[in-house]
Amino acid sequence: MKKAYVDKDLCISCGLCEQICPQVFKLGDEKADVVEGADCEGQDCCKEAEESCPTAAIKVE
Ligand code: SF4
Repeated sequence: MKKAYVDKDLCISCGLCEQICPQVFKLGDEKADVVEGADCEGQDCCKEAEESCPTAAIKVE
């Protein structure tokens, strides 16, 4: 299992991660959040979201 994390101090709520990978990232009330129990294993969009985030707030490990 690979987990995604969002650093909410860095997130600027641009919504890009949700557009790229909606099964893993959701925009919450203010900042992006990882969907409960979401697994990035085998999901290329996780990596894509990590690389696309303008503030590098996403980590996948
Ligand atoms: S792409 Fe990055 S800055 Fe934009 S909403 Fe997602 S975590 Fe936040």
